[in-house]
Amino acid sequence: MRNKTLTTLCIAAITAALAGASPAQTPAPAPAPAQPAAPTFATTKVEGTKNVYVFRYQNHQAMFVVTPAGVIVTDPISYGRPQAAKTYLEEIRKITPAPIKYLIYSHHHYDHAAGGKVFKEAGAVVIAHRRAKERLAVLKNPDVVMPDETVDDKRTIKLGGTTLELAYVGRNHSDSSLVMLLPKEKILFAVDFNALGAVPSRLAVNDSYPVEWEASLKKTLALPWDRQIPGHPGPNGRLGTRQDMEQQLAFMTELSAEVKKASDAGKCFDPAN
Ligand SMILES: [Zn+2]
Repeated sequence: MRNKTLTTLCIAAITAALAGASPAQTPAPAPAPAQPAAPTFATTKVEGTKNVYVFRYQNHQAMFVVTPAGVIVTDPISYGRPQAAKTYLEEIRKITPAPIKYLIYSHHHYDHAAGGKVFKEAGAVVIAHRRAKERLAVLKNPDVVMPDETVDDKRTIKLGGTTLELAYVGRNHSDSSLVMLLPKEKILFAVDFNALGAVPSRLAVNDSYPVEWEASLKKTLALPWDRQIPGHPGPNGRLGTRQDMEQQLAFMTELSAEVKKASDAGKCFDPAN
């Protein structure tokens, strides 16, 4: 119960601890010289792979895998902009005419999960964590395609010579995050619960789970991957490394210690017991 109480009632303490750790405390750097605006979208093959791609649209991105037997698509990233998923499919069609076999959601948040209709219509089986389906069933957003199949702990998808492992690593940024691992390529697609060189998003809001988050990062680090595709582009579009995630874990551990101190000092809304 203590963890639960800490998780749900110590938002003020977390916010205070975050403020202490936030880059906002350091003086603002001089403005960078004007850069040409990035194109609205881009499709990039992951270096060293034959068939793993990142589709970016504005500030969101998703992984897709092309095999001779079909395509595995993740996150439609089209909340409030149906054009993103249409472009996503057009970009895939420039690479392959193979059928779209799967659409897999990283978690239930609309900015990643909305817009799957074009993939569903192209024949995809939609897969998400069980909790994502439960949440989406209540929310009933017409722009989000309901999952056809759900995953509890793990599932392995084999398609056209590629293996993709889906794993639930516990509650973190949401309670419905699936990480997606390509074991042969050692590439991981993991969204929103770690950020490259930044504080992870939604850390201090109600539907995140700061205490369990650390365990989730540890479970993810226990998987065999070298490079991570994040759900939002990293600095200069780079992929994540294990070191990035280890740093994130160290940050979370420090944050938990601060929150516990605040809690013990009675600074939470309701003292933990
Ligand atoms: Zn999210």
